[in-house]
Amino acid sequence: MQRFTKSFTQQEALPEESIARAVAVMRSGRLHRYNTDPEQSETAQLECDFARYLGVPYCLAAASGGYCLHIALRACGLTPGAPVLCNAFTLAPVPGAIHNAGGVPVLVEIDADYRIDLDDLDRKAARSGAALLLLSHMRGHICDMDAALEICARHGLTLIEDCAHTMGGAWRGRKSGTFGHAACFSAQTYKHLNAGEGGLLTTADAETMARAVLHSGSYMLYGHHLAAPPETVFENVRLDTPNYSGRMDNLRAAILRPQLARLDENVARWNRRYAVLADRLDKIPGLRLPHRPAAEAYVGSSIQFSITDRPPDAIAELVARCAARGVDLKWFGDPMPKAFTSRYDSWRYLAPSPPLPNTLEVLSRLVDMRIPLTFDLDDCALIADIIAAEMTPPPTARA
Ligand SMILES: *Cc1c(COP(=O)(O)O)cnc(C)c1O
Repeated sequence: MQRFTKSFTQQEALPEESIARAVAVMRSGRLHRYNTDPEQSETAQLECDFARYLGVPYCLAAASGGYCLHIALRACGLTPGAPVLCNAFTLAPVPGAIHNAGGVPVLVEIDADYRIDLDDLDRKAARSGAALLLLSHMRGHICDMDAALEICARHGLTLIEDCAHTMGGAWRGRKSGTFGHAACFSAQTYKHLNAGEGGLLTTADAETMARAVLHSGSYMLYGHHLAAPPETVFENVRLDTPNYSGRMDNLRAAILRPQLARLDENVARWNRRYAVLADRLDKIPGLRLPHRPAAEAYVGSSIQFSITDRPPDAIAELVARCAARGVDLKWFGDPMPKAFTSRYDSWRYLAPSPPLPNTLEVLSRLVDMRIPLTFDLDDCALIADIIAAEMTPPPTARA
């Protein structure tokens, strides 16, 4: 019986250029972003690089993606106790960021293709009176952004995009992260750039960026930022904006910059691996891949599918059998949070959400798999073959 032996958590080595730049920063001793001229600050330069990549005027680098979500919510005017709309299928740092910023999540259902349910969003926007939508492009699935923007406009919602899984993705040719008032990205090891930890916050709004920079812990050194508005914009808000210390440092910025230059190339490499997997998985009876519209340019750094031929209770057993052959699947239907998966009803620090039957049904069948770039195309074919073998015969025939 064939077994897969590579690790699902093994990243590629960093580019040699990242290593050389990191060594140069360490030799200089100037690791703090404000301990150098802005021109020499790897952090300030990373912000310029990323703003240019995305095509927006402003960018802030900070401690993590979740931290960026927290300060983006505050910089967009979240007031204590205010409702924040958010899709219920997301990762735990997202409700955590809303909670940290003093907001109250209003969870929105998802559809069968793992994206926010736009009809439920429309209803809950009207009912909740929320002023903010934190839209998490969870696992890289991008909803119909034209329809989402129309709903936001109609209800006066300010949109913040969580692009942790869509860095490098697009909708109808427009980059993910340029639809909302602000967007947040992650540079954590398992996302599309690897600094261990790190986050990027972008916006085209000058005052929002000034507030975010001050929140991130700029002291009165905001003049050292190169992808930020002029100092006059800061003068209006600098004494009213708390310092929530969470800066990026030059070491991490130094290793990120050469990776950003290779991002689009890596997106293509991920998508070749995704295509091999999707092509083979799609032929397995009882396994359903989500419909992905032509307008969605996704980044296949992970793959999701639904198991439809057996009761959800039997999916844990399928996952265990695949694991025994070295294929590491995660099941989002597990009532107990495991590793990075969690179901919205396990965030018990929140007031209980009204029932979300569609989300529970979709999650009860949803399986997730990472696609690290250390896998080659043959690896992807073998993984799909193992899943196919473990899926058949279906459980009824087996008995
Ligand atoms: C990883 C992740 C985050 C948070 O990023 P960190 O850098 O780990 O804080 C937010 N949203 C989603 C969907 C994520 O996967």
